[in-house]
Amino acid sequence: MKIDLHSHTTCSDGSLSPQQLVMRAQQMQVDVLAITDHDSVAAIQIARDYSQQSAPVVNIISGTEISTRWHGFEIHILGLNVNENDEMFLNRLASQQQVREQRAHDILEKLNKAGVAVTLDDVQSLADGVISRGHFAQVLVNKRICSHHQQAFTQYLGKGKKAYVTPKWVGMADAVAWIKEAGGQAVIAHPYHYDMTTKWLRRLAADFSAAGGEGMEVQHPNLAKDKQTLMIEIALEHDLLGSAGSDFHSPSRWTELGRRLELPVSIEPIWRDWGL
Ligand code: AMP
Ligand code: MN
Ligand code: MN
Ligand code: MN
Repeated sequence: MKIDLHSHTTCSDGSLSPQQLVMRAQQMQVDVLAITDHDSVAAIQIARDYSQQSAPVVNIISGTEISTRWHGFEIHILGLNVNENDEMFLNRLASQQQVREQRAHDILEKLNKAGVAVTLDDVQSLADGVISRGHFAQVLVNKRICSHHQQAFTQYLGKGKKAYVTPKWVGMADAVAWIKEAGGQAVIAHPYHYDMTTKWLRRLAADFSAAGGEGMEVQHPNLAKDKQTLMIEIALEHDLLGSAGSDFHSPSRWTELGRRLELPVSIEPIWRDWGL
């Protein structure tokens, strides 16, 4: 069975619509796909409807990727199997979306101060759903101010760079509570991406587990073997289950849905009780 538990659509900073994403999952023979847009569940129902009226059926897992703060770090927490109609949860995501709007204004101000002519319209014309720094990067590339996405982050948008703004995200433990109260399971997204020592990573896993978090992503096609071994070790130390996702944003030579995501047998999968 092909399982991919981390993906994005145009409801956040992905380039495929919910329907197009499901279509791609079908082409790639993905059986189970979690859609995890940043601070949004807007794609879920659309994707489910589409999946059910086309073949082969892809089992769509309702998800989201919540941006949180923890000790000065920005930590992404996935919520899997959340009830996408839970009113309280939707209100909570709306508060995160407001933080995103405010941050967008602040980023624009900083860009303009740095002499970069970008307007809110430029960004909004690219964003169908929530605004992410990915959209800013795209605008900077489209305007040929940066040559590629990565450069937009190293020069302007990344932590500590010219147009970086510290956002007022929800605290990490609160985000875990939100997810649980919406009936979901919380998973630490891409722990190997945080610019963090192993000591801090262990602290993160401990705090996350104490808050009721259940899983950690320990598989990704580009994850080096030694890093994966360490991630699994930390997950096991804190009784966390393993998760696997491509973090698919758009079709490219390097990223694909459902590819090379098998979990090592040393860790129990987050989906063990899903009845798949
Ligand atoms: P946001 O949630 O708005 O802070 O934006 C985070 C998104 O920006 C991530 O999900 C990626 O899509 C993208 N991103 C963050 N850092 C980088 C980076 N260094 N290079 C390329 N894309 C990045
Ligand atoms: Mn993204
Ligand atoms: Mn992320
Ligand atoms: Mn993601």
